[in-house]
Amino acid sequence: MQEDVAALERPLDLRLTWRNSFAALGPAFFTELQPTPLPSPWLVGLNLPLASQLGLDAGLLASPSGVQALTGGLAIAGTRPLASVYSGHQFGVWAGQLGDGRAILLGEADTLAGPQEFQFKGSGLTPYSRMGDGRAVLRSSIREYLCSEAMAGLGIPTTRALSVTGSDQPVRREEIETAAVVVRVAPSFIRFGHFEHFSAREQYGELRLLADHVIDRFYPACRTTDKFAGNAYAAFLEQVSERTAVMVAQWQAVGFCHGVMNTDNMSILGLTIDYGPFQFLDGFDPGHICNHSDEQGRYAYNKQPNIAYWNLFCLGQALLPLIGDQELAIAALESYKAVFPRELEGRMRAKLGLADAQPGDRELIEDVLKLLAKDRVDYSIFWRRLSGRVAGQSADTVRDLFLDRTAVDPWLLQYSERLTPNGRGLAADLMRKTNPKYVLRNHLGELAIRQAKEKDNSGVATLLGLLQAPFEEHPDHEAMAGFPPDWASQIEISCSS
Ligand code: AMP
Ligand code: MG
Repeated sequence: MQEDVAALERPLDLRLTWRNSFAALGPAFFTELQPTPLPSPWLVGLNLPLASQLGLDAGLLASPSGVQALTGGLAIAGTRPLASVYSGHQFGVWAGQLGDGRAILLGEADTLAGPQEFQFKGSGLTPYSRMGDGRAVLRSSIREYLCSEAMAGLGIPTTRALSVTGSDQPVRREEIETAAVVVRVAPSFIRFGHFEHFSAREQYGELRLLADHVIDRFYPACRTTDKFAGNAYAAFLEQVSERTAVMVAQWQAVGFCHGVMNTDNMSILGLTIDYGPFQFLDGFDPGHICNHSDEQGRYAYNKQPNIAYWNLFCLGQALLPLIGDQELAIAALESYKAVFPRELEGRMRAKLGLADAQPGDRELIEDVLKLLAKDRVDYSIFWRRLSGRVAGQSADTVRDLFLDRTAVDPWLLQYSERLTPNGRGLAADLMRKTNPKYVLRNHLGELAIRQAKEKDNSGVATLLGLLQAPFEEHPDHEAMAGFPPDWASQIEISCSS
């Protein structure tokens, strides 16, 4: 016991080499500060596979001093905590300065998975907290923890989540909840909004420093390209546009709604970031709005591709002082319009088990989506059952999903003609690797959250395991791959987190 007390006073050594390269950009970019500890934190979830990928000692992280360190109550040796400043467009309107209002960057470390930044979310007030309290509630922290790993399990670019720790400290939202901290991990947490910030303030020196930092570290090929008359900043905009296009195509194919695609929630690396009111579709509704606060439906599921382009346009405008030529900026953004449809079609074809493209594929995809939308057929279950059908199961498992069971027959016939007889085995394989059995539906998260509020973390751990291997069968957890219960549609997810 005495050892523990002594250990809590010394910074914890995670045996990582910290480099803090963001801090090297200079004081215009951040404020150095310490996280505000939470009383008596406990571990709600520790992501063991990620800890091991990073080369971290899970036993140390789960120890009393580890849990303190993961919550911001004990310094981590070698880190220089800071909150960064950014701005952004929220719901289509310039919002001015925002910044890490409840996130604190620990720094960048060399890990087994390469250089990675570590960041707390929910670790107390910063100079950018505005009206907020600097905290995140347990509910939304568990959602972020699980969804980061669900996306990673699906192969979708995302920030990762190492841990979630809870505390009895009350936090006021619509009702009184309790505080939690998520430790997020990503190569960089820089957002479109970081660039908008310095551009809007005409701080072009800082804008250039930031762009050079990101290009040198993550987009070095932009320095040597012949495209755009050798303009590295235009090439950078093009690369970000492409990565964003790939990410959003993956969202659409898997039925993921982000919910708050403000420019400050867009990663410069094309990672899914800032999990708030997100949702995986249950019944297929193209106009689905997952964020209860989004009254206009700006971030509806079927609007996401255009919103991403709108956000890239804001980034393009922010980079214009560096690019120096509007035509080049517009040309760089064009890549989104080429890459997004190509990627989406490729992903949808893979969902159908079609490895190559043929004329008529687009119609086949559009037709099935229309059928799904008409009856609000469960999106994930449809694709998984179709995969089973191609693997030899009865067509009835698919037909049963439709109000009129014969409605899908003409499409099934057309699809079966498109699948060559000897290609069925390959198609079934591809489909089982493409169409997940397990997605983080709202009600699954909700059940795990209810348990965790009662200090039972087993639901979070079980769900994490399923979501990290979403294409596997997991016969003991069949129910979690089933239809959502009736009460699922009553769950209201808003910006409140
Ligand atoms: P979001 O769109 O939810 O990612 O957040 C928009 C802005 O509000 C960011 O600058 C956040 O850091 C800030 N923010 C959100 N919630 C809080 C909070 N509880 N306390 C302080 N800042 C917050
Ligand atoms: Mg945000």
